[in-house]
Amino acid sequence: MHPNRWMAVLTRFPAPLLGLIAVASLTLAGPVEAAGTMQALPRFYTGSPDQAAFRAMCDADMKAAQEALDRLVSVKGKRTVANTLDTYNELMMHALNVAYPAGLMESVHPDSAYRATAEKITQEIDKFLTDLSLNRDVYDAIAAVDPKGLDAETSYFREKTLRDFRRSGVDRDEATRKKVSELNEHLTLLSQQFGRNIRQDRRFITVDSPDDLKGLPEDFIKSHPAGDDGKIKITVENPDYVPVLRYAENGDVRKRLRFERQNRAYPVNIGVLDSLILVRHELATLLGYPSWAAYITEDKMIGTAENAAAFLDRVSKLVVAPARDEYQIYLQRKREDVPDAKAVEQHEASYYGQLIRKRDYDFDAQAARPYFPFAEVKKGVMDVMSTIFDVQFKKIEDAEVWHPSVEAYEVYEGKKLLGRFFLDLHPRDGKYQHAAQFGIHKGIRGKQIPEAALVCNFPGGKEGDPGLMEHRDVQTFFHEFGHLLHTIFGGDVRWAPVSGTSVERDFVEAPSQMLEEWTWDPTVLQTFAKHYETGEPIPVEMVENMRRADTFGRAIDVAYQLYFANLSLNIYNKDPKDVNTDAVVAKYERELVPFPGMKDTHMQASFGHLDGYSAVYYTYQWSLVIAKDLFSKFDHEHMLDPTIPTKYRKTVLAPAGSRPAADVVRTFLGRDFNYDAYESWVREGLKPKAN
Ligand SMILES: [Zn+2]
Repeated sequence: MHPNRWMAVLTRFPAPLLGLIAVASLTLAGPVEAAGTMQALPRFYTGSPDQAAFRAMCDADMKAAQEALDRLVSVKGKRTVANTLDTYNELMMHALNVAYPAGLMESVHPDSAYRATAEKITQEIDKFLTDLSLNRDVYDAIAAVDPKGLDAETSYFREKTLRDFRRSGVDRDEATRKKVSELNEHLTLLSQQFGRNIRQDRRFITVDSPDDLKGLPEDFIKSHPAGDDGKIKITVENPDYVPVLRYAENGDVRKRLRFERQNRAYPVNIGVLDSLILVRHELATLLGYPSWAAYITEDKMIGTAENAAAFLDRVSKLVVAPARDEYQIYLQRKREDVPDAKAVEQHEASYYGQLIRKRDYDFDAQAARPYFPFAEVKKGVMDVMSTIFDVQFKKIEDAEVWHPSVEAYEVYEGKKLLGRFFLDLHPRDGKYQHAAQFGIHKGIRGKQIPEAALVCNFPGGKEGDPGLMEHRDVQTFFHEFGHLLHTIFGGDVRWAPVSGTSVERDFVEAPSQMLEEWTWDPTVLQTFAKHYETGEPIPVEMVENMRRADTFGRAIDVAYQLYFANLSLNIYNKDPKDVNTDAVVAKYERELVPFPGMKDTHMQASFGHLDGYSAVYYTYQWSLVIAKDLFSKFDHEHMLDPTIPTKYRKTVLAPAGSRPAADVVRTFLGRDFNYDAYESWVREGLKPKAN
C-alpha cells in the first residue's frame, strides 16, 4: 500500500506528436433493479463552491470507516468472514468513498478554496489509510480467518490483503512503523505539491499577428483573436499545442511554444521531485528493499525492477536502429527546405512528420479534422461502446455537477443500472491538464454501484467552436472511456479494494489500449466521423491512408515511450545521491531518441507520471503487449459485432482485480499471452514505405 494507490488512471505521456498513435447515448426508461444498492448522486455536485456540503459528506464516510474499524478490532472469539473480512470491506468502502472524490475534486473543481479543502481531506484520509495499513490488530484479525473452505474470490482477496499489509510494514517494530507513517504523510504532501505546481503553471506565448499562425487551420485562427494589446495568446495546453506544433509554418513560434511546454513547473518542481525520490528511497530501504523500484514492481505482473529493465531492453533492440532510419527520412525532408540542415530539432518533428505523411502516404491530418467535430465524436464513442458491449447510456438531465460543462450519465444493461459516469472534457483554469479517468465510488456487489469521471482537455466547448479534433484525440477518448467501462463492468465484485480498475498496475492500460483499435476501422469511423459542414462520412480511402500513414514514425514513437520508461525506472532504482534528474533525462533521450534534446528545458518537472506511476512507466508498453495479443482474438472484419466484446467483457473486465491479471488474460486467450502481435505491430512500421 502506498499513498497513490487510488491515483487516477492516466494516459501515457505525450511524445512530441510523432506518430499518429495517441499519447497517449441513448435513452432508456423503466424501473431500476436492485434499487437498494443504488446510492444517491454524490452531494458534492452542487454546482456551487459549497465546500461545507462536501466536507460533511466526507466526514460522514470517515466516521463510518472509523466505526467499522472499531468493530473489527473489538471482535471476541473466532474470526470469520462475516465478522472480519466483511467488516474490513465496509471500512474500505467508506474510506475509499472519501479518497476518490477528494482526489477528483482537488483536480477539477473550478473554485480554488474548494480544491484546497479537497487537498486537506486527501491528507486526512491518506493518514487514516496509512495508519490502517500499519495496524497490527487488523492484520492479525484477517490472518486469523481460516483460509480453509473460502471461495476462490475471498481466498485470493485475503492473501492479497495480507501481502499488502506486510508490504506496508505492519509486521515491523513500533519505531519502524512510526517512521513509515511519517514518510507516507510526507509523500502525500509532496505528491500534492508536484501536481499542483503543474496545474497552476498556465504557460503561454504571444504572437503579433495571424501571419505568425500561417499553416494552421482556419477554425483555429478564428478562435484565437488578438487581445486588447493586439497580441494573440497561444497556450501550452493540448488544444493549442498540438495544432501549432504540427501545422505552424513559422518555426520560431513552434520552438517558443515547445520550450514553454517543456519547462512547465520548472524550476519549482525539480526540488519537489528530488524530495519524492529521496523519501521513497528512504521508505523502501526502511522496509528492507534495495530501492523504490524494487519495492514498487514487486506486486506488479513484472515482479522485479530487473525484469522491468530487461523488458525495456528487449523492446529497445527492436526499435532503436529503425528509429534512426526514420530520422533520416525527416532529415531528408527538412533538407528540401533547408539544404545545409544538419539536424531535425524537436519542435520540427511533428511539423515534418505531417509533411512526410502528406507526401508519401497521401494523408493530410488537417483534411481529416473536419470529420471529427467534438459533439459527434462524443456521441460516436458512446454509441460504439453501447453497441459492442450491449449496454445503454442515459443522460441525467438534472444532475448537479461541479462545472456547467460537466455531464452525468447512467449505464444500463436492459433495466439494470450498472453505474454512473461524469464527463468533464474541456480545458479551464485550475483544472487537471492531462487526460484521465478518476474513480468516485467503487462498485461493490449488493452495496454500491460504481461511479467514475473522465477528465480530459479536448477542443470545443466554446460558443461557435465546432471543436475539430485530431484523430489522436479520438483515440484518447476511446482509451479513457475504456478505463471508465473497466470501472463500471468490473464493479460487480464482492471486495471494494479490488473493484474496477484496481488491477495490477501494469495491466490496467491494456483494456484501454485495446479499445483504441476501434478508431482505425473504417466501418466504425463512418458511424460518427461526419464532416462538420457537409455531414459526409469520412471517406474509406482517407481512413486507409491514415492507417498506412500511422506506420510512419512508429519506431520513434515507441523509442520515446522507452525513453520515458527508462527515465521513470532509473531515477528510482538507485541511491538518490547518485541521481541527477537532468542527467538521467539527457542520457536516455540521447540513447533512444534520434532528435537532439532541446537546450535548457526540464521536462521532468511536469512529467506527472514520475509521481503517480513513479518507477513503473514501463507499464504502458507492457500493457500494449497484452492489448495487441488480446485484440488478435477479435473479429477484425466485424468490429461492431458484440459477440467477442461481450465474451471479453465477462472474462476480462468483470473480474476486475479479484483474480490475478495473468489468469484473467489466460482465460480469454486460452493460453499465456505472448509478444507476437506486439512485435508485428512494431515491425509494420518498419516496412519500406508504400507507393
Ligand atoms: Zn490509460
